[in-house]
Amino acid sequence: MFTALPGHAATRDSQAPSALPAPTPGRLTVYFLDVGQGDAALIVSPTGKTVLIDGGPPEAGTRLAARLRELVNQPLDLVILTHPHLDHLGGLPAALKAVGAKRFMDPGFDHPSEAYRALLDFVGREVGQVMTPEPNAAAPQTLLTVGLGEGVSLTMLWPRMPQEPFLANTRSDANANSIVAKLTYAKTSFLFTGDSEPPTEEALLQKPLDLTATVLKVAHHGGKHSSTAAFLDRVAPQAAVISCGVGNDYGHPSPEVMGRLRDVHARTFRTDQDGEVMAVSDGSTVTLRSSKGAESTVSVSGAQHAGSPVALGPIESTPDRRSGRAVEKPPEPGGASKKSKTAPSAPAPTSTSEETGQNFVSLKGSKVFHRESCSTLKRSKNERTVYTRRADAQRERRPAEDCHP
Ligand SMILES: [Zn+2]
Ligand SMILES: [Zn+2]
Repeated sequence: MFTALPGHAATRDSQAPSALPAPTPGRLTVYFLDVGQGDAALIVSPTGKTVLIDGGPPEAGTRLAARLRELVNQPLDLVILTHPHLDHLGGLPAALKAVGAKRFMDPGFDHPSEAYRALLDFVGREVGQVMTPEPNAAAPQTLLTVGLGEGVSLTMLWPRMPQEPFLANTRSDANANSIVAKLTYAKTSFLFTGDSEPPTEEALLQKPLDLTATVLKVAHHGGKHSSTAAFLDRVAPQAAVISCGVGNDYGHPSPEVMGRLRDVHARTFRTDQDGEVMAVSDGSTVTLRSSKGAESTVSVSGAQHAGSPVALGPIESTPDRRSGRAVEKPPEPGGASKKSKTAPSAPAPTSTSEETGQNFVSLKGSKVFHRESCSTLKRSKNERTVYTRRADAQRERRPAEDCHP
């Protein structure tokens, strides 16, 4: 377990600003930001591509925005909301206002919270490109992978609509259908699990996936149900990071999960005690350090994963389907490879849309337009403009990347 450091009893207000340095060009850097009881992690790729995974609770918004201003100097390339709970989305509006974003991804299921609705409306207006982990329609068995340059890729392992139904009747279906993503850089990898639940872990364990990760972002703030022994055995993390608040009401992280992490010999960091945690990978070694501990630097060898970090098999329901590589094409340095322009041959329902009478719809104030059937539209209550002809929509707006009208 991570050794306690002096000063842990200090109140949040007495904290010095993070002493952790800016990202180093040529390295992959992941900041597990200190947002109290919630999650927020910033990925900065060797070429400077940025991905923010979650934005902490509302009360962390100001601090998160300030930290992002220090760490990124252009709009985030991608913002991922793992699931629509307030401790993951509350700080996002402030963060997005502070630094901007080019794309937004969430798991794509509806959730009746005002904060989530408001976020979607904000994102629809300010970000425009909204996407889900759905695979390219032309290759439905593949996993969605986002290329971040220099061979760094971020692959969405869960959820997998429409190939796999959303997990239902779990302790929390919103948690259980969190986006789970694996970030890979040469021999090193990171697994981001959101608030995933035991059924999520079971579903992933049944797939032909390489779940191993040098660094694990522990599910659900270290809650006792998640991070089952079987899952941790497969992930075999050498380091683990728990994002949770000082003295939180939930008792996170649970002694059970701390014990299971000890059982797999993971060096464990926790943001309530260690503050912000920074992990830097050169492709073979990950060095972790925390903002509150001068002595907390550890080097983690990624060597044991050599040869297999991106050997992800397709997620399929039936085991005897063909098992090629999941990543259908090399990651694009330019960002999201989903439904990229290189695949115009994909069966495009829009080619017949004018015959079938499908309309194109834009949300009020949005820079993009969607197919009328796009799920993004169903999740927004904004006013909308309807175009009966694609050409009319395109004169005024860009096609959305989620439904590629
Ligand atoms: Zn949470
Ligand atoms: Zn949650």
